[in-house]
Amino acid sequence: MSGRLDQRVLVLNRLWQPVNIVGLRRALSLVFRGRASVLHAHAGEQRVFPAEAWLEHSRRHPPAPATAIRTPSLDLIPPRVVLLGEYDRVPRRDIRFSRRNVYLRDGHCCQYCGRRYPEEELNLDHVVPRDRGGVTAWENIVTACIRCNARKGNRLPTQAGMELRRAPARPRWRMLVAASLSGEETELWRDFLDVAPSGELPWRG
Ligand SMILES: [Zn+2]
Repeated sequence: MSGRLDQRVLVLNRLWQPVNIVGLRRALSLVFRGRASVLHAHAGEQRVFPAEAWLEHSRRHPPAPATAIRTPSLDLIPPRVVLLGEYDRVPRRDIRFSRRNVYLRDGHCCQYCGRRYPEEELNLDHVVPRDRGGVTAWENIVTACIRCNARKGNRLPTQAGMELRRAPARPRWRMLVAASLSGEETELWRDFLDVAPSGELPWRG
């Protein structure tokens, strides 16, 4: 099998609510083990394709070679949204604590001056410094620009006369997803994700 295995696939539960984003390989495995169906817009209408129907659909409407998943028997259309079966659940997604995810949570805005910066001009700041017992966790790490980070130094915000824009917390999965979508994904998934046209943080709840 070859093709664009780095593509991401949106997983919906049986209520058509987004529950996860997985790689193409995992999505195909869900479909061909019968745990999920492909949700695909055809002739202006969202249709649900179980595995066999998806093979048939791919035969009748061969994908462009550049996008196809090559298999020995046919060129498969890569699914971009899959719908879990009635009793299936995908394990709870884990939000990895990482530099990139902290930046995404904070919208790439310094949490002290409020300005937005490219990643190379940002740092992670321990709100309560490590040598005062501050932990490296969602609740104590914020995005800071290099200037604010240097100004604050090894002090508490109040000691530095600085104020946080908002209290840091573990982000909601949906919020991070929305912040990380590519333009193509925003277009493809907007019906399911409630993505605002501007691409701004779109989540209602
Ligand atoms: Zn700043």
